[in-house]
Amino acid sequence: MPGKEIPDRCMNCREAQPAFILRTRHVCQDCYVRFVKYKPFKRTENYRLRRNMPQDGPCKLLLPLSYGLSSTVLLHMLHEQIEAMRLKPHGPKGYELLVLTIDPSTISPTIPSHDEAFSLAEKLFPQCSFTTVPFHSIFDLDPNIGEVMSQYAHADFKDQTSLSNQERLEVFRASISTATSKVDIDNILINRLIVAFAQKMECRGIVWGDSDSKLAAKTLANVAKGRGSAVTWQVCDGMSPFGLEYNFPLRDLFTVELRNYASFFPELAELIIPHEQPSENTLTKNLSIDELMVRYVLTQGEKYPGVMLNVTRTASKLQSSGASSAGPQCNLCGALTFDANEASVAPQATGQHSDNLSSQICYACARSRPDLSC
Ligand SMILES: [Zn+2]
Ligand SMILES: [Zn+2]
Repeated sequence: MPGKEIPDRCMNCREAQPAFILRTRHVCQDCYVRFVKYKPFKRTENYRLRRNMPQDGPCKLLLPLSYGLSSTVLLHMLHEQIEAMRLKPHGPKGYELLVLTIDPSTISPTIPSHDEAFSLAEKLFPQCSFTTVPFHSIFDLDPNIGEVMSQYAHADFKDQTSLSNQERLEVFRASISTATSKVDIDNILINRLIVAFAQKMECRGIVWGDSDSKLAAKTLANVAKGRGSAVTWQVCDGMSPFGLEYNFPLRDLFTVELRNYASFFPELAELIIPHEQPSENTLTKNLSIDELMVRYVLTQGEKYPGVMLNVTRTASKLQSSGASSAGPQCNLCGALTFDANEASVAPQATGQHSDNLSSQICYACARSRPDLSC
């Protein structure tokens, strides 16, 4: 039986030669770019048109840039939107984009500091304002974090404020023993740093670069780690427990589509740090749950993209738990804790919250504690 014929014209514009298969359709490069850009364009419409928000005054959004594929592509797309908005002097005021990078070398010493990329990003995207901070600046931006670290860690750990911030962070991170807990706690600290910066800059919300594939991996990993109740605000558009709107404009796109998009703009190649997959030979038991899920979604997602799309869509139908601020929040990860009778949760209403902080660690965070991990 002869294979399906490749059409000699793009199935969208019917003019150019097809060069890519986009969700079973043979299309040209221009049509591919248009399709991929349109998804986040729709998802940021409310901010562009300032729907249900004041028409005047600032509307700042924070984009955390990790120099990964997704956040770099998102920055490229949103910057184009802002350029287009600014060409229309009488159009809606739209939004401003603040970009925050956490110096990658301060998260993982194996990654170079990427300073040239920072200056290049500033040059490529002049409509955005850029800030870079080291990971340990979390102690300055989020002054409670030292106390929370002491409550979370095992009894022999004590946050020593006499150390430099860099050393304080190193000592704390070194006290966590398992791969899963390390990645889990790093993600929480990174999230807290980003949130604290967004709050300081009076942002309305945060635009995250996660693609559909990434959101599916995050959903599965969170459930596996007992963070099911935090799934909704971590993967859905809407209010987070931190009083900031979370938005995932790339949620309808697959990693492979972002990779193709990035390849059309060679200047992006200098910004993006290639994602190092743990080698196939790495023993599964040495991988964190997050890494395992990313590996799973990447391999299975290529075979069955619809299944992964389903994971994220199903999760986003769950009712957002972040919308209400009624329940007590976990001191570490910020998730709302529901079961007031649970031994590890003490309601804030007791009025003794300051010295009772240690009891306000949610089940999932408590489970990843160094002394309990196995
Ligand atoms: Zn076309
Ligand atoms: Zn927690």
